[in-house]
Amino acid sequence: MINVTGLSKRYGGYLAVSDVSFEIKKGEIVGFLGPNGAGKSTIMNILTGYLSMTRGTVTIDGYDIIEDPEKAKKKIGYLPEIPPLYTDMKVREYLEFIYDLKKVKFPKKPHIDEVLKLVRIADVQNRLIKNLSKGYRQRVGFGAALIGNPDVLILDEPTVGLDPKQIIEIRNLITRLGKNHTIILSSHILSEVQAVCERIIIINRGKLIADDTATNLANKLSKERALFARIICDEENMLQTLKTVSGVKSVRSMGKVETGAFEFVIEPEQGKDIRQAVFEKVAAMGKTMLSFADNTMTLEQVFLRLTDATDEELENMLGDKGEEE
Ligand code: ADP
Ligand code: MG
Repeated sequence: MINVTGLSKRYGGYLAVSDVSFEIKKGEIVGFLGPNGAGKSTIMNILTGYLSMTRGTVTIDGYDIIEDPEKAKKKIGYLPEIPPLYTDMKVREYLEFIYDLKKVKFPKKPHIDEVLKLVRIADVQNRLIKNLSKGYRQRVGFGAALIGNPDVLILDEPTVGLDPKQIIEIRNLITRLGKNHTIILSSHILSEVQAVCERIIIINRGKLIADDTATNLANKLSKERALFARIICDEENMLQTLKTVSGVKSVRSMGKVETGAFEFVIEPEQGKDIRQAVFEKVAAMGKTMLSFADNTMTLEQVFLRLTDATDEELENMLGDKGEEE
């Protein structure tokens, strides 16, 4: 359904997207996960034809976004990070305006009615957009994206700025829409992506660094079998000391995880059991270990690990990436 090959985008001298390739099949719900500034919105703007690429190709259902923009764009509903709502319009009026703008062919009234119903805003259709809550406004944005019945929905951080109840409503909406749409959704929040997406593409500093199911990502990285130690201590001092323990290959801090306590990821040299040595070292320093586990990495840990790894580390961790298809 969506094919992206060798996509790069340069803003002046700055390379915001670098050689990104992926494919999304019909009916998939894929999450774009990455920290702020990673390049997610840039890629989405290129996919939807709002921004030109510096290099690479994008096709939507076989239509090249540059050579056949009209046909490609008809396939896509786009919810930008900040939907351009005309707040002095009434909800229905706005959707009718979008209908005209998109030059939709099928009968107007039943189509608008259907969209209003789908995103559950029929009850506010005659209210001014500016008087709606943020959650409702976001649903109007979804409605606009759905006008014309596009197969593909591209949603840029669809829950940013919403309260927890509204977030759940929007998530349910996405899950419902996922039953008969292909969806790409971006977020810098892992739980967000995990809640609705089957597949995760991690973008960092303009590069695609992982493309897999959440479970596979966690499994691949757990090959390292790192230990997770949560210790009440001085971060830097503990980091340096743990590195001196015999059999320890590397130590990283995941930062402060609760008051006074830091979480360290300790990687053993191949085949070494370092549990006792680490435990004794921490005890000898008079520090308290709150938890100590060699569990599989949570997706949160996978995400942090991937986004701060060097290119060489990524190669080691995800060595088979790109050879799957
Ligand atoms: P994300 O959506 O992942 O937060 P963006 O795609 O918005 O990331 O931005 C990626 C990088 O490109 C950032 O460093 C951002 O500052 C830069 N950038 C985005 N838009 C522009 C622009 N119009 N001109 C110059 N730099 C830009
Ligand atoms: Mg963005």
